[in-house]
Amino acid sequence: MTATKMRRTKYIRPGLIIFCACVVWCISMSAQTRGFDQEREQMVAQQIQRRGITHAGTLKAMRKVERHLFVQRADRAMAYDDHPIPIGYGQTISQPYIVALMTEIIQPEKAHRVLEIGTGSGYQAAVLAEIVDSVYTIEIVKELHMEAEHRLRTLGYGNVLVRNADGYFGWDEYGPFDAIVVTAAAEYVPPPLIKQLKEGGKMIIPIGSPFLVQELMLIEIKDGRVRTRKLMPVRFVPFKRANQ
Ligand code: SAH
Repeated sequence: MTATKMRRTKYIRPGLIIFCACVVWCISMSAQTRGFDQEREQMVAQQIQRRGITHAGTLKAMRKVERHLFVQRADRAMAYDDHPIPIGYGQTISQPYIVALMTEIIQPEKAHRVLEIGTGSGYQAAVLAEIVDSVYTIEIVKELHMEAEHRLRTLGYGNVLVRNADGYFGWDEYGPFDAIVVTAAAEYVPPPLIKQLKEGGKMIIPIGSPFLVQELMLIEIKDGRVRTRKLMPVRFVPFKRANQ
């Protein structure tokens, strides 16, 4: 073998191995993505439509948002299962059906401005952001806030504004809101949130003692009056306060 040929082989072989490894990796990634796509379709059909969710925008968003990208890598295999999943810091990403239900109940429309309290993984915010123009979401745990902000930015959700604060006070600067979604269970409805709800607006919030069964409540402002309706028993992580 000539010196030139030997040099060429020296570089071509490792290059070829890296190229083949990349091809194998790409094939396995796309197979995995196809697997998740299928699981997501099944999740929507079996857990969400079968339980009576019909709002077209909600169903479309639940089909689109890649829930497995919102859980820890080690938990991806159960991302589409019918239960909440821990996301660290003692918090959870809600069960898919609950996310869909809360989304449908507020009847989101394109032009709406929605406030979420309890960003967590950012999944509920992403589902909302697929439907409405602007989503404002507040998370009290700094680490979760930072992770969710990075995740939402990486996934291209430019219409979601994320803030690290105590959601009890809402986000006056951007209110009033067409809808408010609270994803942690409070002992009572925080008065600042009621003030930041528009006339005709809807707030969905779990109310009750931490670690017991709570009631999912719908709060509406109609003709300047606050109307409250109990919807169903639920279980959420507790609503925390910044000074506790
Ligand atoms: N919506 C989230 C899941 C929420 S779990 C998702 O889609 O993944 C409830 C979240 O509410 C937790 O991350 C918790 O840290 C947060 N939280 C609790 N009390 C809060 C408060 N007062 N203000 C803002 N966030 C709060």
